[in-house]
Amino acid sequence: MRSELVSWWTIRQVEGSVNIKRKIRRSQANKSKKKAEKALAEKVALFGHLPNKCLTCEKPFDKMNREQVMTWNVVVRQEEEKVNLYCPECWDKAIKLIKEAKEGLLNKKRNRNAVSPEKE
Ligand SMILES: [Zn+2]
Repeated sequence: MRSELVSWWTIRQVEGSVNIKRKIRRSQANKSKKKAEKALAEKVALFGHLPNKCLTCEKPFDKMNREQVMTWNVVVRQEEEKVNLYCPECWDKAIKLIKEAKEGLLNKKRNRNAVSPEKE
């Protein structure tokens, strides 16, 4: 991450000359292509870790079942190299819980504001 920043900074510094600019553009394109390839390889590797059941209810997941592949939800945690798999029912429940938690927080805020009544 840091080295990327440094090279970007260097590129900005030398952008004055047209020739150099063209050269840099080419090397930048190569870099981002390599980056994309690397990201793809990482994703494929993670896909190899795909669980064969729902993380929450342990319902079996069939990679060859098109409908399941289309409807189940995969959450990739790249930094932990973990792949979590959720069946549609558990996913819906999780979404609802998150929504309720968010709404709960909003209500709490509203109530706190209501504690001090306006003076008339
Ligand atoms: Zn489930």
